[in-house]
Amino acid sequence: MEENLKNEQEKLVKTLQQYGISNKKVLEAMAKVPRHHFVPEKSRKDAYANMALPIAFGQTISQPYIVALMTELLDPQPSYKVLELGTGSGYQSAILAELVQKVYTVELLPSLSVAAQELLASLGYGNIEFRIGDGKQGWPEAAPFDAIMVTAAPRTLPPKLASQLKEGGRLVIPTGISAETQTLWKYEKRNAILYKASAGYVRFVPLL
Ligand code: SAH
Repeated sequence: MEENLKNEQEKLVKTLQQYGISNKKVLEAMAKVPRHHFVPEKSRKDAYANMALPIAFGQTISQPYIVALMTELLDPQPSYKVLELGTGSGYQSAILAELVQKVYTVELLPSLSVAAQELLASLGYGNIEFRIGDGKQGWPEAAPFDAIMVTAAPRTLPPKLASQLKEGGRLVIPTGISAETQTLWKYEKRNAILYKASAGYVRFVPLL
């Protein structure tokens, strides 16, 4: 079973490359983090299929391609301190924790956060800080951040996030109403101004 999953994971990484993911470190992280631990038991066989899967409370673990794309857009560097909103299963947190010095992750639903904390600790991740609360507030005590990633969609960019981003920093976020078309945006802060570029259409659960 485990061997089979390893093969599936290798295949998934090849698929991601075919879809245009080229950052070597991102691909290595996708090849390393065991996604099958982050999905519900009954979905294990699909853990390395390139699709989003349901987790608890009507939430989802994002599609691997979207995780890889958002991570690549963030262009994380080893020295970075990164804020993630929407811990969910903790999978994206693990990918980020492979690539940067410190990850701060905020989740609204306590039981999802607690499950992610236990799982990530059991997998040996010691560079992730967790908070239960509303991600729209960011994490003022730990700000400013080199990069911010939002994994649920608000209608528009929450203003407090922009102010917690470092000069030269990047912020990746989907915005729009969940039943309609959402856009994935990459923002960059230069001379205190945020510049945005579209990275295509996506579908995320709403930021509550
Ligand atoms: N990054 C996750 C994807 C989670 S889906 C993963 O890799 O599995 C989005 C998550 O955002 C859900 O867990 C949801 O509960 C959470 N969420 C929704 N609104 C939020 C808010 N205002 N603040 C923090 N988390 C929120």
